This record gives sequence, structure tokens and C-alpha cells, in this order.
Amino acid sequence: MGTPSDMKLIDENGRRLDGRGDEELRPIRITTDVLQRADGSVLMEWGGNKIMVAVYGPREAYPKHTQDIEKAVIKARYNMAAFSVDERKRPGPDRRSTEISKVISEALSAAVMVEKFPRTQIDVFIEVLQADAGTRIASLTAASVAIAAAGIPMRDMVVGCAVGKVEGRIVLDLSKDEDNFGQADVPMAVLSKGKEVVLLQMDGDLTMEEFDMATSMVLNASERIAEIQRNALVEKYKGENYPEIEGSEE
Ligand code: UDP
Repeated sequence: MGTPSDMKLIDENGRRLDGRGDEELRPIRITTDVLQRADGSVLMEWGGNKIMVAVYGPREAYPKHTQDIEKAVIKARYNMAAFSVDERKRPGPDRRSTEISKVISEALSAAVMVEKFPRTQIDVFIEVLQADAGTRIASLTAASVAIAAAGIPMRDMVVGCAVGKVEGRIVLDLSKDEDNFGQADVPMAVLSKGKEVVLLQMDGDLTMEEFDMATSMVLNASERIAEIQRNALVEKYKGENYPEIEGSEE
């Protein structure tokens, strides 16, 4: 990493390139039930990111040797569309998407009650339609809502955010230029109630103090993001009619 000499990432008033303060998130919008054939689906808009998630299952795991007799296997597949970035991305899987699929699958497995569905798989298809930094975290945060929208039991929601270092300052939710030219990039995700860390990656360098500050910024932000997740699910169920439960009337 390293900043090209003509690229100022923080202006003279201490504002970031897009006008945000250090702990300010980009706008986040989560819409559920955007695909008819999926058991659960979400459109995640996070800053300039646009990501579609479709969840299917639990269904019998196939091929059979992938079955786990004790629990469901979560198979997340992260894919970036060729047109999602400035410089056309070569279509198909590559090392980056394989790695991201793996870390997302593992993070989701910590939140889903996989032990209730032995021998099954839960497919999570993630299509990045427009990428603008932080896609792995936005995908994971969206996938958690899509799984809940599919009615799959979960012990907690996964919520994440990237944090990093730009011109010596710790800033939340890196933009594309901050991600490319900053001094550190740390995507992180936690279980929203339990506050267990389920994804943590890093490139660049931070002192231990900076690292502590970065993680507490993510923990604070995770509460704001979890609320957006909850609101998306409340919105989904609001319009639906449920049978009257006897004695429930006031
Ligand atoms: N990116 C790109 N081409 C690629 C991969 C990534 O232009 O082949 C961009 C994209 O905007 C992505 C950003 O670089 O969001 C940062 O990528 P990174 O690997 O750090 O993952 P992310 O931050 O999206 O989780």
C-alpha cells in the first residue's frame, strides 16, 4: 500500500474524500424478498456496493460425500460480476472469490443452528453487481439477513464492517480509494448479540493501540448495522397475515 503523492485522502478540515467523519458509515439499505424462487433473498446496497444474495435450503447435501452426519453444511459462493468493477473482471471463480466464499461460509456456520439439519446443505449465492470496497463484509451482513428471511433458525445474526488506517487515522467503512491507498484494511464481523468475532482479516499495519481502537469502532458500528438488519426483517413480516392466536386480543 502507500499513498500516491497527489492523492489526499483526508482534507484540511479533517474530512474524508466523500465528506464523512472517521466513524461515519456509508448509507446502507437492505431489501428482502427480491427474488421469487429463492427461499430467502436480499438486495444489499452499501455505499456504492450492490449485492444480491439468494438462499436455498436446507436441502439434502449433494454430492453425498459432502454430507455431515451431525450438521448442515453452509456453502456460500461469492461471485463478482465482470461489470461490477472499473476494470472488467475476468468471469468465473478465482483465488480471491474462493477465499471470500470460504470465510463467509465459516462465519455463517457460527450463527446458523446447523446442528438441527444433519446431512443437508444451505446454499448462499452471492452476486456482487457493483463493487465499491468492503464487499466481503457487505455480502456476509446481507447473507445473514437472507438466511433469516428463509426462515432458517439462527442463534444470532452476523454483522460486520471494515475499518482501516488512512493518513495515520483510524477510519470506519473504507471507501474504494481508502481501501486502495490507505495504510491498513481490516474487515471484521461479529455475532451481533454474543459479540464473538467470526471474521477478521487484515492487510497493512497497525499498532496494538490502533488495533484496539479499530475493533471498538467496529463493535459500535455493528450495533447500528444490526438495527438496519432487524428493520429489514420487520419490514418483511409486517405485511403478512398471521392466524389469530386465541387470547392474544387485548
Ligand atoms: N476490486 C476490483 N477488482 C477485483 C477485485 C476487487 O476492482 O478483481 C475492487 C472492488 O471494488 C473491491 C475492492 O477492490 O470492493 C476491494 O477489494 P478487496 O479484495 O479488499 O475486498 P472487499 O473490500 O471488497 O471485501
